[in-house]
Amino acid sequence: FIAGKKRATEVAHSVWRNVLRKGDCAIDATCGNGHDTLALLRMVADESGSGFIYGFDIQSSAIESTRCLLEDSLDPDQRRLVKLSLLCHSKMEEVLPEGTMVRLVAFNLGYLPGGGKDIITLPGTTLPALHAASRVLAPGGLISVLVYVGHPGGREELETVQSFASSLPAESWSCCKLERLNRPSAPLLLLLLKK
Ligand code: SAM
Repeated sequence: FIAGKKRATEVAHSVWRNVLRKGDCAIDATCGNGHDTLALLRMVADESGSGFIYGFDIQSSAIESTRCLLEDSLDPDQRRLVKLSLLCHSKMEEVLPEGTMVRLVAFNLGYLPGGGKDIITLPGTTLPALHAASRVLAPGGLISVLVYVGHPGGREELETVQSFASSLPAESWSCCKLERLNRPSAPLLLLLLKK
């Protein structure tokens, strides 16, 4: 799945497709323009109306873009399978019904494409969000983190994600990194699989 001219997001989606099943519950921790939310919903929604996506973003313009994309792309029955929250992803547990375990938490870090570059994900909230994601993840589930390093602060955020992943116990987590060695400024995909 890393062959050819695939963009990093397409590579991430290929991985998600291998982890998610119809009826699963997943989290888009950074909705942005909603492309990942839509992709996730299509992977989990089944005809009987199960499968659910919780989406988070701190920018109202991002939540609005996501809502519009979902309205244009899904029928009303499928739209009911998504809950969008204008909230920091570090607070994801405040939105999930008690006891909910999810199969995938997707982070697509950085800034809103097409929006201002002044609002970006930051290590100070990304780290507690990763901790929260690790608590709500079901065994067999995946935390997927796409990290961009081309903007100021991107490399520091990568360090934060890497050191979190490295600290997870090997008995219960399998953590790896997909990196384009011949394109050092390309985004990296970190995959944290809970055994
Ligand atoms: N997944 C998106 C898509 O498919 O279009 C792209 C996400 S974009 C690279 C990163 C998003 O993270 C931005 O929309 C930004 O507002 C959001 N963000 C920044 N800090 C956040 C936080 N603490 N909690 C949730 N979202 C945050």
